[in-house]
Amino acid sequence: MTLPRQRIAILGGGPGGYEAALVAAQLGADVTVVDSDGLGGACVLTDCVPSKSLIETSNAMTLLNRSSGLGIAGGGLHTVNAVRLYERITDLARAQSRDITARIAAEDIRVIKGHGRLDGPGTVVAGDQEMGDQEIKADAILVATGALPRVLPGAEPDGERILTWRQLYDLTELPPDLIVVGSGVTGAEFASAYQALGSRVTLVSSRDRVLPQEDEDAANLIEDVFRRSGMTVLGRSRARAVTRDRDTVTVTLTDGRTVTGSHCLMTVGMVPRTEGCGLDAAGVKVDERGFIEVDRVSRTSVPGVYAAGDCTGVLMLASVAAMQGRVAMWHALGESVHPIRLGHVAATIFTDPEIATVGVSQRALLTTGDAGEVAARTQKLPLATNPRAKMAGFREGFVKLFTSPGTGVILGGVIVAPRASELILAVSVAMEQRLTAEQLAQTFAVYPSLSGSVTEAARKLMEFKD
Ligand SMILES: Cc1cc2nc3c(=O)[nH]c(=O)nc-3n(C[C@H](O)[C@H](O)[C@H](O)COP(=O)(O)OP(=O)(O)OC[C@H]3O[C@@H](n4cnc5c(N)ncnc54)[C@H](O)[C@@H]3O)c2cc1C
Repeated sequence: MTLPRQRIAILGGGPGGYEAALVAAQLGADVTVVDSDGLGGACVLTDCVPSKSLIETSNAMTLLNRSSGLGIAGGGLHTVNAVRLYERITDLARAQSRDITARIAAEDIRVIKGHGRLDGPGTVVAGDQEMGDQEIKADAILVATGALPRVLPGAEPDGERILTWRQLYDLTELPPDLIVVGSGVTGAEFASAYQALGSRVTLVSSRDRVLPQEDEDAANLIEDVFRRSGMTVLGRSRARAVTRDRDTVTVTLTDGRTVTGSHCLMTVGMVPRTEGCGLDAAGVKVDERGFIEVDRVSRTSVPGVYAAGDCTGVLMLASVAAMQGRVAMWHALGESVHPIRLGHVAATIFTDPEIATVGVSQRALLTTGDAGEVAARTQKLPLATNPRAKMAGFREGFVKLFTSPGTGVILGGVIVAPRASELILAVSVAMEQRLTAEQLAQTFAVYPSLSGSVTEAARKLMEFKD
């Protein structure tokens, strides 16, 4: 006797939703994805993919501007063709969404374009104004509806001069005087990119330093790089309102000071995109900010309803969204499943240089003997002495490793370097496999290479062996 196929309904076709759909299809389930804006989600269409494409161009500009120092003559002044730049970015995002759509179709996953909501246990209602509503019965439901840019009252985006990052790619020029409000990851990435592309950038940060949540050495280094590049960084400056008068925007700070520019980019966080999803009626618990509460296998408070990605507010990264979605499906479909380990997530801030981190952070380290914190040894090695860095003509950056004092096991690290996002894998593997500093130190690194600094930092930690 063959068992009936399990029915899975997924709200949202971003990384949280489409990666889950692929896993569920692989396990033989009958899968329906309801998505309103296009497969790939905000990740592919407006957030991660477009911003990283923009940053590729800004990195190329940085390289070109450094070329005279590398012995290349006649570099001239390089400028950006904004229309072409934004066209390239949106084309690339659409192409990526098409690739995902093709992949989903190849797996026989049903896709309904429209808005979806929960409607009682085991039911999703999906539809749009043209087609009307349709009911989908499901054995398990995954909510992966993402998040929206937070709007500061008094600083509402107009899509022309006061912008969220999702509106940047509709511009027809490079903002000549860009004010970025917010110095978290998104603000820092765009400030870094636009400064390199040729905008005059002012970064308005409400905190003492940029990237307040990140490794302090890394954040201080980046702030220093920002200032030396000509960027104006306003620390301890909280924006109260943003207004526009024709071609000028004015940011008013809470202490009454004002900053003027041609455009203002608001990067003040995200709010969950769950309105109209029927969570209340279904009894799905949300936290005080409205994010869906989930456990480490993505279960919500309602049996049979799972949630993944930005709508849960758990580490807002595409890689985490995808893993939460997969874990949900493995759990729902009776596979063995490891609860998600957030302490092992590798992440990068795509400033120039990039900041990549994995594992424990300096903040969590035991230096004072307080209970409940992690004990670790730290080794920080500047890249200035790395031969490959010298050849490439950059000095800023470092490798920092953390090890357990007793065993020498790698607990994590921070790398600040061009392409640190690629270099961090060595530290991730070491951490995942519980390698010791000694084992990492004994691993061959190419000479000359930036990764040579990773093994060198590990060698220095061997000096600390108990
Ligand atoms: C500027 C920026 C840069 C970023 N860069 C990175 C990066 O470099 N690396 C990284 O890992 N992460 C990055 N992120 C984070 C990453 O984009 C998110 O973590 C990721 O998009 C979360 O995926 P998701 O599936 O939860 O949601 P989304 O990608 O937002 O997808 C949700 C989907 O659900 C649909 N939807 C919403 N409501 C409904 C409904 N009721 N019915 C049907 N469909 C619905 C939406 O249309 C959308 O398609 C970045 C974020 C930002 C803002």
